[in-house]
Amino acid sequence: MARKFFVGGNFKMNPNTVAEKKKLVELLNQADIDSLIEADLDLEVVVAPPSLYLLPLKDILRPEIQVAAQNCYFKDSGAFTGEISPAQLKDAAIPYVILGHSERRTLFHESSATVAQKTKAAIASSLSVILCIGETLQERETDQTTQVCSAQLQAVVDEISPDDWSKIVIAYEPVWAIGTGKVATSKQAQDTHADIRAFLAKAVSPAVAESIRIIYGGSVNKGNCGELGVQPDVDGFLVGGASLKPEFVDIINATR
Ligand code: PEP
Repeated sequence: MARKFFVGGNFKMNPNTVAEKKKLVELLNQADIDSLIEADLDLEVVVAPPSLYLLPLKDILRPEIQVAAQNCYFKDSGAFTGEISPAQLKDAAIPYVILGHSERRTLFHESSATVAQKTKAAIASSLSVILCIGETLQERETDQTTQVCSAQLQAVVDEISPDDWSKIVIAYEPVWAIGTGKVATSKQAQDTHADIRAFLAKAVSPAVAESIRIIYGGSVNKGNCGELGVQPDVDGFLVGGASLKPEFVDIINATR
């Protein structure tokens, strides 16, 4: 079965004002992407605003574009100041959550075990998960990319059942490419995505490896999305900085 191309926009801690948010929504609502989505031409578009904007954005965005939370905790309620729960996201009909982003792993010290716990909890609340993995520059330069990605995935393999993988989109995001303007070459992306699929074929099942979407993230822009997007194992993008700009529409249309 063909894998539906997936383009995610990770707004991170942006935009800063309601006026900027409105401009962004207008851009997306007016963008020429109807034909692709409505004709079911194998495209899914999801944007992840800060949690404060999740519901307002969901209400005013065109219905073909879904929203995602940027994080959630692994408990459903209780004394966890500052956290948002999978149950709350489910109740608000938010379909996706990003988990394991490198900024969460690095700045907020989330271990792979924590990311796996969160993934399990999110799936238990019927959320779909955009699961981010990826190596640092030092790890790539010392040939540890496959090992690092496999270890990050193994933590999730240990927590969830093989059927649960249908609720996951894997975002391969080399840490050295995020927000740096230094994009992976299409060969680096393709080779790593193929390695991730090979790992899943062994650790979970060949069927999961074949059907799961593996998207690339890290300095994707309108200039490089075309070449990346045609790689056989690249099933879309997770876009940070460029998702706040008009060129996000060009990236959405990368496979047109
Ligand atoms: C991201 O934060 O997920 C990301 C890929 O950022 P950028 O596109 O800015 O590198």
